[in-house]
Amino acid sequence: MKVKDLVYAVGDPVLTKFLSPPYGGRPHYTNHGPRTARRVALTFDDGPCRGSTELLLDALAELDVPGTFFCVGENVNMNPDIVERIEREGHVVGSHSQRHSRGAGLSFGDVEHIESAERSISDVLGRRPALYRPPWGWLTPWEGRRLKSRGYTIVGWDVYTLDWQIPEPDAQTVADHAVADTRPGSVYCFHDAYPLVAEWDKSVTVDAVRRLVPTIRSLGYEFVTVDALLGVNAYRPAAA
Ligand SMILES: [Zn+2]
Repeated sequence: MKVKDLVYAVGDPVLTKFLSPPYGGRPHYTNHGPRTARRVALTFDDGPCRGSTELLLDALAELDVPGTFFCVGENVNMNPDIVERIEREGHVVGSHSQRHSRGAGLSFGDVEHIESAERSISDVLGRRPALYRPPWGWLTPWEGRRLKSRGYTIVGWDVYTLDWQIPEPDAQTVADHAVADTRPGSVYCFHDAYPLVAEWDKSVTVDAVRRLVPTIRSLGYEFVTVDALLGVNAYRPAAA
């Protein structure tokens, strides 16, 4: 293990506490929409991957529910057709950095991880994302400022689902936990894929969403994309 990796491993819980939602990363993070209306948003991180993301898109189409996909630039480059499909089917694409690196967002001067991801997405969709979710949720004040100065809305969450855990919980457990944490304006953080791999086999997220959506709708909630929930733009024009 490299020294750098060891520092991250030891520092992980501490850094996560101070840098991640719901408490970290302030004041730059937006973690939820208005608490006054029963509107909520599904978000999916780390893709797109062939297999898992496609399975999820099939489910979202059947459920007739929109989602917001925070895509990793390298995955966008590997699977541009899936990114096109995400947009074509009424979902929104945001940036989740170029390589999902822990160090890039912590560094003082590095903006390459932001700008490369912007180009990767813009090359496919013809416009730049205006929504950003930092990898690992880690947001330093200086990373927050450089994202804001580039016109990004930095999207956190207030429902951190259990679908990232290893071993994976079963889908009903993931759904029940998410239902219990739901409030008006909630933003759910799910993972449909895996960073830096082209294909991924994951069905727990899909099964959990299939269970979550009808339950939440029965409680009088409407699902919208994150930009609609927060009242912000999802995209900006392509760079000149
Ligand atoms: Zn991620």
